Amino acid sequence: MPEKLKLSKKEKEEFRKLLLEKKNSIIKKLSQFYNESKEIETDTALDLVDKAETSYTKEFLLGLTDSERDQLVMIDQALERLEKDEFGLCQICHKEINKKRLQIIPWTPYCISCQEKKEGESKGK
Ligand SMILES: [Zn+2]
Repeated sequence: MPEKLKLSKKEKEEFRKLLLEKKNSIIKKLSQFYNESKEIETDTALDLVDKAETSYTKEFLLGLTDSERDQLVMIDQALERLEKDEFGLCQICHKEINKKRLQIIPWTPYCISCQEKKEGESKGK
């Protein structure tokens, strides 16, 4: 069983806030994209955001770049881990991720050494 990262309630709240802020900024950017491309009612835009909260439809994701799309998914997964008290643990080696790293990129699923290993692998191909 992976070890649990000891986060205080306050720290958990802070990370949750960071993640939600980032998520909202991506979604906001997306609603702007929709507003520019087609003139749609605010209600429709809100509806899209609502749908996006639960499932990422193709149309929704069209407005995002690949990295934003990945980021959105990673943010959701991080929020899920926060709920399950698994937040802050590397998904590969199950060690604690450095807190400073989490403060900069709270949605990261990997510790620095695993991230570097992964990047090295994909570069090698
Ligand atoms: Zn790791």
